[in-house]
Amino acid sequence: MQRLLFLILAQLLTTGTCDTNPGPEHAEKREGNSLGHWSYEDQDWSKGYELCKGESQSPINIDIRKTTLNKNLPIITLEGYNLPETESLTLSNNGHTVKLSLPDSMSISSGFSQKYVAAQLHFHWGSGTIPGSEHTVDGTQYSAEMHVVHYAAKYGSLKDAAEETDGLAVLAVLFQVGPQDNENYDHIFGKLQDIAEEGNSVHIPGFDITTLLPRQLHRFFRYSGSLTTPPCFQTVTWTIFNDTIQISQAQLNQLETSLKTGDHMMDSNYRHVQPLNGRTVFASFSAMASSRRMVPKVDSAESGGDDKSDSESGESHVYSNSSVDGNHVTLGETLAIIFGILFGCTALAFVIYVMKQRKRQRSNTERGQKVIYKPAATMEA
Ligand SMILES: [Zn+2]
Repeated sequence: MQRLLFLILAQLLTTGTCDTNPGPEHAEKREGNSLGHWSYEDQDWSKGYELCKGESQSPINIDIRKTTLNKNLPIITLEGYNLPETESLTLSNNGHTVKLSLPDSMSISSGFSQKYVAAQLHFHWGSGTIPGSEHTVDGTQYSAEMHVVHYAAKYGSLKDAAEETDGLAVLAVLFQVGPQDNENYDHIFGKLQDIAEEGNSVHIPGFDITTLLPRQLHRFFRYSGSLTTPPCFQTVTWTIFNDTIQISQAQLNQLETSLKTGDHMMDSNYRHVQPLNGRTVFASFSAMASSRRMVPKVDSAESGGDDKSDSESGESHVYSNSSVDGNHVTLGETLAIIFGILFGCTALAFVIYVMKQRKRQRSNTERGQKVIYKPAATMEA
């Protein structure tokens, strides 16, 4: 009976942790778009762009167990991110993504050995039930991903920096779907219908761009990679924040269904993960000890950017993600924990049972000797 129970639990444990998402191969096939000479449907970009088959390509899967802890990675400090409303930003549909231009008054003032200036931010997303982040963490693809692109100040422009080894720094944010709208993203998502057609653009007033980022900027992964679109220059120092951002399902739908590329819906605009080829992925924190992978934490949407002073504790701004829709791995991990506990309890009960049985056998044996002895004594008597 015990053995049977063990087998059932082991089986449940396996199915609980093997629930992976469908992955990029489920992306729908269709013709490439007309603006560029490449598309996400046929990602064999190296035909036209040799570098796209290079050794240091992005995105990658971040295997937490294989990351290298580096507590000396400097904390990222942002400057000029709180833009005044008088600052006019261009939001455009370039046929591959939605892009928000950023002024060069915004920068990463510390966090690297040199200053990086902001140029633009843009998004990658999936389609319907198919998630669309570019980076994956322990094989999990997230709903969407935002990239804030910066260039090294010393090169003067994004164009001039793009081909330099230390030219670019991209901050990446992973999205998860939660129950609430994230109003911080309405500045962008609320305007998507105005740039539905490829080539469209609108102007939007400046706002605090830090509200688009997680509150905890000191937990991140770092590695050297490339642009995730042709020409795939291998000049990007990547920073992928550990803490994710929550948006609602309605907001994700807005992102996935508002824009067109040529005659088609612009969706699934993410590149498949690329081989690591021996590169080191650093973690600025003890990623293995972090609870995120077991109980993913999501930046809550209800608060704006004016409450960052209490962000150090973080606990009031993060919540267990087990109830968040579409996070299959979390459910699997939760099941794994439950069955793990059940397994442990059953094993403990089994050990106690065995010990009791042995004790009873021992006492029976002792009693048995007396039983044999007594009749003998009686017979002599
Ligand atoms: Zn990107």
